Amino acid sequence: MESGCIFCKIIAGEIPAEKVYEDDEILAFRDIQPAAPTHVLLIPKAHIPTVDDLEAGQDELIGRILRTAAVVARQEGLEAGYRLVTNCGRGAGQEVFHLHVHLLGGRPFGWPPG
Ligand code: AMP
Repeated sequence: MESGCIFCKIIAGEIPAEKVYEDDEILAFRDIQPAAPTHVLLIPKAHIPTVDDLEAGQDELIGRILRTAAVVARQEGLEAGYRLVTNCGRGAGQEVFHLHVHLLGGRPFGWPPG
């Protein structure tokens, strides 16, 4: 738990969130400002600020986060497809420095992304 980290506070139950999945290592909850009909954030419970901070020992955790995204996508009925996004660093639009994967679905998506 990193003091001052909003996602650590959600994990600790200090800030409410609409959880859609939880296990020992991973939490998934709905984004407070959804950018699509389904917008879920998947986070490790460990405080890892960005993709740049990942260590080799966390490879399995990241794999599990991606597989969990697929489980949640199925739960949400996103058969038509979905997009997974991880912003790394302010230049890419990262605002919360606790690693997260956005799961977006329920509308068409353009490419390249904005
Ligand atoms: P990023 O810009 O990639 O760091 O994404 C951060 C995301 O966290 C944004 O989509 C915010 O809407 C979302 N967010 C911030 N605070 C909360 C919160 N308390 N509950 C749910 N989502 C949040």
